[in-house]
Amino acid sequence: MKFPSEPFKIKVIERIRMTTHEEREEILAEAGYNLFLVKAEDCHIDLLTDSGTAAMSDEQWSGLVRGDESYASSRSFFRFEKVVKDLTGFPFVIPTHQGRAAEKILFSMVGGEGKTVPNNTHFDTTRANVEYTGAEAVDLAVPEASVPSNEHPFKGNMDLEALDRLIEQYGPQHIPLVMITLTNNTSGGQPVSLENIRAVRDRCRADGIPLYLDACRFAENAWLIKEREAGQENRSVAEIAREVFDCAEGCTMSAKKDGLANIGGFLGLRDEELAARARNLLVLTEGFPTYGGMAGRDMEAIAQGLQEVVQEDYLCFRINQVRRLGETISQAGVPIVKPVGGHAVYIDAKAMLPHIPALQFPGHALCIELYREAGVRTVEIGSVMFARKDAATGEEIPSELELVRLAIPRRVYTQSHFDYVAEAVVRVYERRHEIRGVRIVEQEPMLRHFTARFEPIVDK
Ligand SMILES: *Cc1c(COP(=O)(O)O)cnc(C)c1O
Repeated sequence: MKFPSEPFKIKVIERIRMTTHEEREEILAEAGYNLFLVKAEDCHIDLLTDSGTAAMSDEQWSGLVRGDESYASSRSFFRFEKVVKDLTGFPFVIPTHQGRAAEKILFSMVGGEGKTVPNNTHFDTTRANVEYTGAEAVDLAVPEASVPSNEHPFKGNMDLEALDRLIEQYGPQHIPLVMITLTNNTSGGQPVSLENIRAVRDRCRADGIPLYLDACRFAENAWLIKEREAGQENRSVAEIAREVFDCAEGCTMSAKKDGLANIGGFLGLRDEELAARARNLLVLTEGFPTYGGMAGRDMEAIAQGLQEVVQEDYLCFRINQVRRLGETISQAGVPIVKPVGGHAVYIDAKAMLPHIPALQFPGHALCIELYREAGVRTVEIGSVMFARKDAATGEEIPSELELVRLAIPRRVYTQSHFDYVAEAVVRVYERRHEIRGVRIVEQEPMLRHFTARFEPIVDK
């Protein structure tokens, strides 16, 4: 059997509403053509994000009932701690309410003025938490990562020569840690090879710099290593994941991705003294060290989720579901980022809509069309999100890539939902020449994509 069927059956369902074309026109106009401002219940298929959107299993729902809500030293914390320790090998596990809270604590301890933190590509909250301390965040992705059509199997890799140059230039004393993001979310959910992780570890060790992981999608990354890396095909995903964690001194983790949970996260550490400092910071903003911003029931759901996420029938289904959507639209001619990564399909809007100038936001225009066509919500990762202002002229500099991300929630949609999404994408693709850009009519100075209002540009 080439394509695995869902390795689960449905026990509880949630109704989703279909809107008419006329209703969607009205909804778009009311929301200022910004899909963040469209109500979730007005989306037929919601591919805005894979974060916190997973469907939980019957075992996880049972865990919610078993949750021990004692303030201190609850049974649920010890179950959560044991699962994380068994999986990662990190002796100190600090629970947090989300991934970014773990980042905030970590970089409050090691960041600061004059420090530089390299990463393959910083996720936006990671970058913000590094920069908030006064430190500099530097992205060192391999050059293949910025070419959507390049089929390199590990486009998430860190550029080792660039890392070498950076360590030479700044000096190891100014680099508190090196981070690797698994998978590389910002560059298309692309995996990092085990070979690259080992090489970064060796380079860091040579200068005594600790290596940390942003482990949000560690299981999807491990599956892609098993599938794509020579010599790894006969190892279990859990074994590969463990070797990856063994390369690092610690990790930040958002349980909203490969935790298969709707909220939660943790900071994993090997250094006892650092763990003690982290717990002191934890109490200030998150909570007591045995719950850190989570309910006991959340910790139960994550403990169970982390065991389910390394099950290989699940990962095989998951990765193939995403890949099949990507391949279906690619075969119809739609330009996508290749190869298809772990958690999302990214359409190359710059290549699909070359007649729309970057500052008329081709990616955003495409998101609007996908909603208009079929009620499918996606997100632009391009100049609306990432354009910068030229310091001298104040002019906007467009982002390098104009992508539209179709992020796939875990275990939520079936194959027929994806057949529907693929049909919608192809229909929009077939009338791509009619699509026009948009202009911004209202925006905030920071993170404008969440609240900006737009207006379609119409031909004179
Ligand atoms: C989601 C995400 C985070 C932040 O996690 P939250 O739980 O949303 O705070 C950090 N890094 C990566 C790569 C992510 O995808």
